[in-house]
Amino acid sequence: MLFLLPCFILERNIQGNQMIYKNVLAAIGNTPIVEVDFGNTKARIGAKLEYLNPGGSVKDRSAIYMIEEAERKGWLKPGGTIIDASSGNQGIAVSMIGAAKGYKVIITVTEKISKEKLMTLKAYGAEVVVCPCVAMDNPHNYHKVALQLQKDTPNSFMPNQYFNLSNRQAHYTLLGPEIWHQTAGTITHFFAAAGTSGTVSGVGRYLKSQNPDITVVAIDAKNSWRSTKGHPQPYAVEGIGVDFDTPVTDYSVIDEFLAISDEHALGILQPLAQQNGLLVGLSSGAVAYAVQQYAPRMKAGDIGVMIFGDSGRAYLSKGFYGCVEDTVPCAVALKKAKELTL
Ligand code: PMP
Repeated sequence: MLFLLPCFILERNIQGNQMIYKNVLAAIGNTPIVEVDFGNTKARIGAKLEYLNPGGSVKDRSAIYMIEEAERKGWLKPGGTIIDASSGNQGIAVSMIGAAKGYKVIITVTEKISKEKLMTLKAYGAEVVVCPCVAMDNPHNYHKVALQLQKDTPNSFMPNQYFNLSNRQAHYTLLGPEIWHQTAGTITHFFAAAGTSGTVSGVGRYLKSQNPDITVVAIDAKNSWRSTKGHPQPYAVEGIGVDFDTPVTDYSVIDEFLAISDEHALGILQPLAQQNGLLVGLSSGAVAYAVQQYAPRMKAGDIGVMIFGDSGRAYLSKGFYGCVEDTVPCAVALKKAKELTL
């Protein structure tokens, strides 16, 4: 049974016993938690499958919250343009929402973006501006470019996920209560990848307001600005990594940061898909590896929830899950099967 959130998105969907959502945006949230057995702990650990949101990621939640807040406050009016800087999923969420609500959307991205994500933005009808991977103080930085475009575009709104505190408030309001209710208030540990840190900060604050003893763990990229104490190196995992001092990060609710290398994050993707049926994205790989390492520290009766932020389908062309050359021609398969029966 779906648990009903006391939130603005879901209130407007359900009439009587009907489970027909008013539109695609009303279907955001209420994603399942699925148990994952790492085989090294007596605790129970579940993955919250955020890739089952309609836009395919956890960012649907913060994007709808920030955009509907802008509408309520008159910052975004009919016929307007939504502009945002995004490594992908925030942009995809904004593009889906813009399409469903009738706004023009412009998304700035870095060259690191996967082909699938870029094509997804285009499929929703967004204008995509590709920027080089340069530091924040460079005028060609994707965030700087988005700010400039917003300044130059009349009747435009920028959710500005790295600086808008409503980003983490969205997760305090929507995702935190959802996890609390889905675990019937028994959760003891929460794990989430940190990009803007909106998810870990918002959910972390909500969970600690219910039970201050809950442990909140943020997963960062090993080469990020925070992990390297200000000397970042390139890294492959998308959507994760604290790369500057954003006010969205609420350090007061994060008990621990775990820094994960590309090698470890990517190495666990194939086992997750082929042994658990969980085809997840790169940040989920980092989270799964981190939780696997952390799990022996948990005891019987502990309940952990980790966020799987998006799907592996967005990264298939990168070859982390197996490659096209591994397929078997049907003649070879039939010959092999015949040999086995002789
Ligand atoms: N996982 C994925 C797949 C993401 O796209 C993001 C957002 N960039 C995150 C995790 C991190 O979420 P947040 O920005 O709330 O820290």
